[in-house]
Amino acid sequence: DGEEGSEEKVPGNFGILCRGSRCVTKDWVVSHQKENGSNEYEYKMSNDDKFNRPEDERVVEMEYVGMDRDDSKFIDIIMSDVVDGVGISFDDIAGLGAAKQLLNEAVVWPLVLPQLFTGIREPWKGVLLFGPPGTGKTLLAKAVAGQNNSKFFNCSTATLVSKYRGESEKIVKCLFYLARHYAPSVVFLDEVDALVGARGAEGEHEASRRFKTELFVQIDGVVLSKGEENAQVTVLAASNNPWDLDEAMRRRLEKRIYVGLPDFTTRCYMFAQFIGEECADSSVDVKCIETLSGNTDGYSGADIELVVREAKMERTRNMLQEDLFGALERVKRTVKDCNKYNQWNGKFGSVV
Ligand code: ADP
Repeated sequence: DGEEGSEEKVPGNFGILCRGSRCVTKDWVVSHQKENGSNEYEYKMSNDDKFNRPEDERVVEMEYVGMDRDDSKFIDIIMSDVVDGVGISFDDIAGLGAAKQLLNEAVVWPLVLPQLFTGIREPWKGVLLFGPPGTGKTLLAKAVAGQNNSKFFNCSTATLVSKYRGESEKIVKCLFYLARHYAPSVVFLDEVDALVGARGAEGEHEASRRFKTELFVQIDGVVLSKGEENAQVTVLAASNNPWDLDEAMRRRLEKRIYVGLPDFTTRCYMFAQFIGEECADSSVDVKCIETLSGNTDGYSGADIELVVREAKMERTRNMLQEDLFGALERVKRTVKDCNKYNQWNGKFGSVV
């Protein structure tokens, strides 16, 4: 909430600070320097501090407290590639009542009421959501984050492994650092079987082993710091192929929740939800929805969404076609004939 809006991109690309804006995260170290280059000094900002650097100084450096310089170069990658907007609640997700209840008990309540979940009622280490693709695993993870206003770190193999071969373990370190920094947060490991498959995403190479080890160290670290204030990091993982999952990973994902295909009633909800307002002013009624649902046994939520999207596009296409021909009837040409132009062109026009 910058007052003057004098935006300033901070070197190191750690973020944009406006003069007068508040430090909304945890601790930053902001180094200042006089415009003439002398007198560099550090200024530590904590939650809710106002950023008010003097007129003649510029920020030369901004660091997260306690992060290795070597690891911090991945901050940008993670913040731009990984942090995802969350605006989803359990109510937006059709069906999956049992999965929602389990997630509430295993993750949401321990986050909201940590004092009730110490000692014997310790929260689960990590949670695995498994089931066929397109059934709402990612949605559920996002809803968990939404329930507690957590930051959502949406990590896939692409972000963590494929793009930065050999440096994956540093990315993991940085990821969990940021997750703690921005806590409460949810670290969502999508396609976790590919990430740490039994055979390893990069084969059992040295880099892959180091990556795995670091990931386990970090997950175990999250577990150890459970209950501590400001250390609320939840690890959720998803897999379409749970049988391919590395055993050591599976052990760390203590709670395993099956996210299955939608049943008849849930498919009805989905059709109604995806069709949306158009339900009201079209021929789609309850009976139609029930027929659709009856005909889509075995379809995932994503499949049903695709059916509706296809239909909507088809409708737009057809309407557009009809409208175009209708419009053609009404709108007449304004230029009647070009003979005179052609003649004049033959005489005086430039040959192209
Ligand atoms: P998964 O992670 O299981 O592969 P997603 O959670 O990414 O699947 O779901 C893909 C899309 O399918 C969602 O964006 C949503 O539009 C739709 N979808 C799937 N399951 C549901 C559900 N239970 N309720 C509402 N939408 C769903």
